[in-house]
Amino acid sequence: MLTAEIIAIGSELLTPDRTDTNSLWLTEKLNGIGVEVKLKTVVGDDDARLEETIRDALRRSRVVITTGGLGPTEDDITRKIAGRAMGRRLMLNEQVLDGVRAKFIAMGRAMPEINARQAMIIEGAEVLDNPRGTAPGLFVEHEGRSVALLPGPPREMRPMFETLVLPKLAAKAGDVRVARRILRVAGMGESAVDERIAPVYTQYKNPQTTILFNKSEIEIQLTAQAKTERDAELLLDGLAGQIEERLGDAIFAFRGEMMEEIVGLRLAVGGFTLAVAESCTGGLVAQRITEVAGSSNYFKEGVVAYANESKVRLVGVPSELITEYGAVSAPVAEAMAEGVRQRADADFGISVTGVAGPGGGSPEKPIGLVYVALADDAHTEHRKLMLPGDRQLIRWRASQAALDLLRRRLI
Ligand code: AMP
Ligand code: MG
Repeated sequence: MLTAEIIAIGSELLTPDRTDTNSLWLTEKLNGIGVEVKLKTVVGDDDARLEETIRDALRRSRVVITTGGLGPTEDDITRKIAGRAMGRRLMLNEQVLDGVRAKFIAMGRAMPEINARQAMIIEGAEVLDNPRGTAPGLFVEHEGRSVALLPGPPREMRPMFETLVLPKLAAKAGDVRVARRILRVAGMGESAVDERIAPVYTQYKNPQTTILFNKSEIEIQLTAQAKTERDAELLLDGLAGQIEERLGDAIFAFRGEMMEEIVGLRLAVGGFTLAVAESCTGGLVAQRITEVAGSSNYFKEGVVAYANESKVRLVGVPSELITEYGAVSAPVAEAMAEGVRQRADADFGISVTGVAGPGGGSPEKPIGLVYVALADDAHTEHRKLMLPGDRQLIRWRASQAALDLLRRRLI
């Protein structure tokens, strides 16, 4: 498989004010044609560091792509340094110079002398036209390496790469297609997931498996390579099927869907409606549900019943329950789910009540204690959870658990 590396050039990218987004975009495009990005570097506008970086890159990678540093100013050193690293001279290209000058004339201005620098071309390089800016890019085949020097601004870099560089690299990559799939898991920790599925996925180099933790859920990322997209998808089907055998219902999404999408889909398919009563999540569950387009087909209402008195007045929790068990308790969670379901005249009611912290914890009701409940016309159930994390994470995980309780009922 063809391997690439990306060098993002610019001192501003090393500050907290600017982020290198070019490499993320480029990586996606490269993966799409079966080129794997093995490494990326962010380098400031520093002659020595940049030369060293480009030399290293040329030694280890078949494809080297740089972005940035093609401007007209003193700190734009990419052309000069890349030329030096490859041992190639820079030469003024009259045709390119005319082109740069014409762009200024079109804007009704004379070309500043420093812009002539943008017409300095690395010996043997192909000039990549830049319809959206003055700096042309360069493409060089150097000792078996393909080197592309692209401008920094994304709106200039992207079309140049897509129309002028990508087709060349695709031809080199040959018939390799990459397919990717994201499986999402709820209600299990990372190590528990790994313990169950490692015996399966470690048997395969292709597809490649990565397990990572994302917010409140475990993501299993599968990447397969094959000659055709269909074959790559078949490889994914095979491994995903084996993983499903081991994890069962804990997997809620096979194509990277969000929990709220899956729950929404199941509600829509069954023709069911939903109402939500929330305390510690403050409307997060309702927000997530309504982020899905078409949720008006199944979502009736969400109530944020934060104060004890509001739980009584808005969703009809008997005040004796709160006095006897406290607002964070299984009976209150169940009463909230039943109450909101009834008042909204919905098929399902779900509720959340808990201690999100950082204050308000006690030995009997520590921070992270959350009850979620689900009611339909026949019965009501709850889950008691001890959620780790800070306030934000506890709230997110609580919303996830509430949605997951409903998802499992809808299977
Ligand atoms: P340059 O080509 O170095 O003159 O870069 C001009 C501008 O492009 C910078 O000020 C950034 O706003 C943007 N830019 C440069 N490199 C990147 C990058 N890797 N990701 C996103 N934006 C970039
Ligand atoms: Mg720069």
